[in-house]
Amino acid sequence: MVGSSNTDMIIKLEHIPQAGETILGGEFATAAGGKGANQAVAAARAGGEVTFVARVGRDVFGEKAVGGFVEDGINVRHVTRDPSAPSGVALIFVAKDGENSIAVASGANSRLLPGDVRKANAAIAGARVVMMQLEIPVATVVAAAELAARANVPVILNPAPAQVLPNKLLKLVSILTPNESEAKLLTGITVTDEATAARAAGRLRERGVKTVILTLGARGAFVATNAEQWLVPGFRMKAVDTTAAGDVFNGALAVALGEGRALFDAVGFANAAAAISVTRVGAQPSAPKREEIELLLARVRRTPDAGALRSGSSEGRLVKPPSGKPR
Ligand code: ADP
Repeated sequence: MVGSSNTDMIIKLEHIPQAGETILGGEFATAAGGKGANQAVAAARAGGEVTFVARVGRDVFGEKAVGGFVEDGINVRHVTRDPSAPSGVALIFVAKDGENSIAVASGANSRLLPGDVRKANAAIAGARVVMMQLEIPVATVVAAAELAARANVPVILNPAPAQVLPNKLLKLVSILTPNESEAKLLTGITVTDEATAARAAGRLRERGVKTVILTLGARGAFVATNAEQWLVPGFRMKAVDTTAAGDVFNGALAVALGEGRALFDAVGFANAAAAISVTRVGAQPSAPKREEIELLLARVRRTPDAGALRSGSSEGRLVKPPSGKPR
């Protein structure tokens, strides 16, 4: 995992303060965050052996974040303590009506540079999968993708937060995992159904991405390879908090693919992990353990109507069945 680590600082308030306004009486909480860290934790809980390449500051937030990674069994050898930049933080106001306002100071994340990933070359070249997002400099993502490509290690890129990407990077990506809004920014296509998902995926594949997995919230994920495309239906859950559903999906996906599972199964595994996470509050705290994911998958296998939206239903129709994967 090459990516960001942040500390989220959340104040719950009556309303979001206006410019120049001071409000008293808010409730305060901190939470470990950052897409890289969230996905690293999700992958470790899902059973992956994770090495995290990241940068934090030499401050209490960085210490606490690294302590959390270690607790989850993540290898932190390549988590560098930046001598001068502070750890990344997100200051979040949440109003009573649920509205929020967020300011992010990337801090040390913006100083994770190509030199850092070059130092981690042995870990990258020896990995089964390299997974990245876009909360670090794009030049760093490109450098890591080049090292991975040289060692024939597949790269999964979660293009979040959404931004325009050079074809040079997309050509190095084995699997791109946008959500609907990221797909819209990258292709200009508004994804509303399978036909538009297929069009958006096609456009990304024309730009050099090998496989596109477009996440569609509760509906699951749309997969497009050079040979076929299909919808892997999501799980029907009572959603409480969908924060970081995408992060849990990506972390679990990387683990399943690293274990050599077929794409269809790996996406099912990722859907299951993300589905569990939406039933719980928070980002990293909501990432499920391997046993929980397997349990949900086993339950659905036994009683297919209990959880999964089935193929053939309006939401779960196969566009084209994946070869050798009857379901
Ligand atoms: P993001 O969190 O990046 O916006 P999505 O909303 O597409 O991404 O969600 C990512 C994945 O999380 C989906 O592909 C699906 O597997 C799962 N998921 C999201 N919302 C729900 C939900 N309400 N119920 C079940 N699974 C969900």
